[in-house]
Amino acid sequence: MNIYEELTKEMKELEEQGLLVNIRTLESAQGAWLNMNGKKVLNMCSNNYLGFANDERLKKASIKAIEEWGVGPGAVRSIAGTLTIHNTLESELAKFKHVEDTLVVQSGFNANQAIIPAIMRSEDAILSDELNHASIIDGVRLTKSKKYVWKHKDVKSLEEALKKADSENAKRKLIITDGVFSMDGDVAPLPEICDVAEKYNALVMVDDAHGEGVLGSNGRGIVDHFGLHGRVDIEVGTLSKAFGVVGGFVAGKKELIKYLKQKARPFLFSSSLSPAESGAALEAIKILTENDIEVKKLWDNGKYFQEKMREMGFDTGETVTPITPVMLYEAKTAKKFSSRLYEEGIFASAIGFPTVPKGKARIRVMISAAHSREDLDFALEKFKLIGKELEII
Ligand code: PMP
Repeated sequence: MNIYEELTKEMKELEEQGLLVNIRTLESAQGAWLNMNGKKVLNMCSNNYLGFANDERLKKASIKAIEEWGVGPGAVRSIAGTLTIHNTLESELAKFKHVEDTLVVQSGFNANQAIIPAIMRSEDAILSDELNHASIIDGVRLTKSKKYVWKHKDVKSLEEALKKADSENAKRKLIITDGVFSMDGDVAPLPEICDVAEKYNALVMVDDAHGEGVLGSNGRGIVDHFGLHGRVDIEVGTLSKAFGVVGGFVAGKKELIKYLKQKARPFLFSSSLSPAESGAALEAIKILTENDIEVKKLWDNGKYFQEKMREMGFDTGETVTPITPVMLYEAKTAKKFSSRLYEEGIFASAIGFPTVPKGKARIRVMISAAHSREDLDFALEKFKLIGKELEII
């Protein structure tokens, strides 16, 4: 067998196990409604929390940035790819987040690759929540540090891991957690994590990809939500979800950001964010600084949808955010539910193993400020119809 035959065979096996990723194409821009396969469907799948991905104000700002700065950065940040607009984006983001400084890279994924290997050495310890995002796991893999995985949101388990790291003479100890866990919509117990970190002299890093633009005053994120300014050492964020654009960042103390500009590999070896992205992201920050209309609408929509779903008898798991897992447990049921929803005009994906544990399959509904009440009522009606049809409720 040559390599292509081997790859094809492997994919056939994945298909047989129902594990093949189905890549769908949107035939229209992001928004509450989409065209897919020539059909109009309600979008309950994207991370476009605030509806900014196709917002007129962001589009205008993006076009203006292209007119002023062109379409490409021309180089990596450390050679000739730092434009004034990048520096402005970093300082505006720092102001918005109430941190000393930020470093912007090409994606949230890259932000984790930028920070973790840059500061963690072989004599150090990384303590990671077992459900942390793949980009954290990969960032950790790029280090030679000792790894300790603690039970999801379990601060006692974290404390055990810290004790073990101390007994093994770890120098730097870095606790890493997602802020909002994207499959369940639950939130890390960050105040308790900070308490235990202080007791063991460990650093705290939170990946707030799904909390950015969602939690805290005007969407400032999880640190603001819990009032933990100054107690969390490193915040990783993305510009690709609530901010509606693409890009990622690390936020923290001036010394840390200065150091990252010397050491972070995605900063040094991959070209900068484009002017179009930078301009749009700056506009998102401006809008969020000025008002919280979209953030409030997102939460109102989330509460409304979840309350109605629970009233109907659906199990929405552990969520405390607008992310709405509709727990169906059996992978087959979740797939069937999702394809029936699609037939009825709703795009909401079924999520099963390996993204979530076996026996915990679900439909994950992503609520957005772009949804109107009528959109949500339409979705609720269809969930009810199919829930009864499949004898879930
Ligand atoms: N961290 C977390 C927790 C995420 O959920 C994601 C996106 N799925 C990322 C990082 C990566 O962000 P981006 O899409 O900007 O690369």
